[in-house]
Amino acid sequence: MKVTFYNTKPYDKQFFTEANQVQGHQLRFLEVPLNENTAILAKGATAVCVFVNDKVSASILRHLAEAGVKLLALRCAGYNNVDMAAAAQVGIKVVRVPDYSPYAVAEHTLALILTLNRKIHRAYNRVREGNFALTGLMGFDLHGKTVGLIGLGNIGLVTARILKGFGCRVLGYDLYNSPEAADAGVEFVALEELYAQSDIISLHCPLTPQTFHLINEESIAQMKDGVMLINTSRGAIINTQAVTRGLKSGKIKSLGIDVYEDEGDLFYEDLSGRVIQDDVFMRLLSFNNVLITGHQAFFTEEALYTIAQVTLKNITGFEQGQPLRNEVFPSFLPNVENMLN
Ligand code: NAD
Repeated sequence: MKVTFYNTKPYDKQFFTEANQVQGHQLRFLEVPLNENTAILAKGATAVCVFVNDKVSASILRHLAEAGVKLLALRCAGYNNVDMAAAAQVGIKVVRVPDYSPYAVAEHTLALILTLNRKIHRAYNRVREGNFALTGLMGFDLHGKTVGLIGLGNIGLVTARILKGFGCRVLGYDLYNSPEAADAGVEFVALEELYAQSDIISLHCPLTPQTFHLINEESIAQMKDGVMLINTSRGAIINTQAVTRGLKSGKIKSLGIDVYEDEGDLFYEDLSGRVIQDDVFMRLLSFNNVLITGHQAFFTEEALYTIAQVTLKNITGFEQGQPLRNEVFPSFLPNVENMLN
């Protein structure tokens, strides 16, 4: 099958070319993102493959359908960037890679927690400048602390298990109480209780209309003073301006994010030679207790290998008319228009 890839980097080409030696599709790698102007480039392809920051709106889906595209293959787990109702309307099926490596994201979550707590980012710079003073670098024992996880699916569950290994008490909130999470020692609580009791709160739910700006002025007010907040899920689960106010007041003692609500204009590009125009983002960068990574939690060899394998198998399954195991349905995510802007 002819597949047009958008937004590709050298590592995408490498892993997909290797995986395709078995699958045998015709792959065309474009570096440009998918948008109103570039959708036409898919003409002649039956499938289009996109990543997290390609915003696949209703109008782009119409352009793709007109170009003959029948399948949208997401090379990621999240699907909040796709207008699913519009995809169904124009007859484009959507597939994703639901669980390529929960370890990659869970381990990155721990990297953010440990770095922020022990101030490794600051210590690294100090030592390089010959400054061995410890003032300002004091952390706390993770052992014995209460960590609240919002979302206990694949990634939340692995995060919970790692945290239990550190000797943490783990509280969880999810729409469903999974037996695996209970077996891992997670205590299911109401969201209000999780906010009130947690020393660290980490987000592992998808971005949906219910979770859009879940972390806002009101929820922050319910949190412990000096809470650490971690987001490796999707940027818009956090209201960035509210969190910035929380950081300014000291209510939030530290923030670790791998995702940002307006990351589409920033992440995955080298902007070091330009002036970044996003003042909300630049204010966040000005805090030394804020650690930002550019949506790289997934970025391990194992994850990229699995993403390439599963994406191409999804495409092969569609080509052969098999039931699509990893299909995303419109009912998964109603009314996402507000999150696509
Ligand atoms: P998953 O589907 O296995 O788990 C998500 C969990 O969230 C489910 O248990 C679900 O019931 C729960 N949930 C849904 N709505 C909720 C709500 N309103 N409140 C509380 N819980 C809710 O997904 P996963 O593989 O664990 O991934 C979680 C998220 O991590 C993805 O949606 C994606 O946005 C993000 N992610 C980020 C990266 C990265 O590189 N930073 C990589 C992969 C995934």
